[in-house]
Amino acid sequence: MSNNTPFQVYLRVKPLLDNSQDTIIQELDERRIVITKQGRNNKEFHFDRIFNNENNAQIFSEILQNNINYFLEGYNTTILAYGITGSGKTHTIFGNEKDEGLAFQCLNYLVEKTNTLENALLEVSFIEIYNETIRDLLNTNQKSLVIMQDSQKGQYISGVQQMVCKNCEEVKDVLNLGNQNRSLAQTIYNVSSSRSHAVIQVNLSYKIENQILTPKLFIVDLAGSEKVYLEQKSKNQQEGSNINKSLLALSHCLTMLSDKTKKNQHIPYRNSKLTRLLQDSLGGNTKTIMIACVQQNKQSYDEILNTLTYSQRAT
Ligand code: ADP
Ligand code: MG
Repeated sequence: MSNNTPFQVYLRVKPLLDNSQDTIIQELDERRIVITKQGRNNKEFHFDRIFNNENNAQIFSEILQNNINYFLEGYNTTILAYGITGSGKTHTIFGNEKDEGLAFQCLNYLVEKTNTLENALLEVSFIEIYNETIRDLLNTNQKSLVIMQDSQKGQYISGVQQMVCKNCEEVKDVLNLGNQNRSLAQTIYNVSSSRSHAVIQVNLSYKIENQILTPKLFIVDLAGSEKVYLEQKSKNQQEGSNINKSLLALSHCLTMLSDKTKKNQHIPYRNSKLTRLLQDSLGGNTKTIMIACVQQNKQSYDEILNTLTYSQRAT
């Protein structure tokens, strides 16, 4: 299984609702997908694993549990949900009561594991990046946060609210509070979730053989990728260019990191808030897990093709 590679790219195809036959998928198996459209050549894409009817809990145990075990050994880890609006990113990261999302699954597993470690502390923060502004979703009194750098901590957000999680209830409370404030922002500040990146950061600290390990885990519900392609057409230049900035910067960094011929080149992390924040959790000794989400209806063909092409590029 590709679970040990530094870059893992998975695809999650949103199931068709109400027995609709409206699909562009010609062939689908665990690692390969072929899409079709009248008048175009069929296109084939490969992923480390493709999910179709699996739920969040199954996706966690199949691909994330191993990665979280690796994180527990001290390695920085980043989990990204990528795709256009409506493709299932938020469902994947946050889920619902019947099927808790990957953020809950990861955190719940982590609290169980860290309770068995010596002097372990698990702290969670939850922020939103919108128009290159960072808002604290756990403390709405904090208006705008800044990223700082420290030789020990690496990149960190100055003054961000961090909540200690020791059990499953505390994990739920943190995720619910953050999501409530995210929804609130949508009405009060007119912040659209399709244009914001929601970022959960987990700081773990524990002692092992006289050494203190402090790995970071990021779980990111990315802004809708349609804006990347609509950049030029954007009516709201400020917003369009900034969304583009974070997603394009991320795309650029991932492409460079995964391209062995570009190994010694300068990676442009400083080009956006998102990539600055993730700087020491992408590449090197870290694990990056991208879950590309797509719909499968015929109407969305072009956008699905974009997502498949982009995520293929990041492998
Ligand atoms: P995004 O965050 O990418 O804009 P959402 O996660 O909000 O998309 O998904 C859009 C809609 O589709 C929501 O109503 C969601 O509940 C539903 N949905 C997404 N993925 C699935 C899935 N795997 N199974 C069932 N429903 C899903
Ligand atoms: Mg969403």
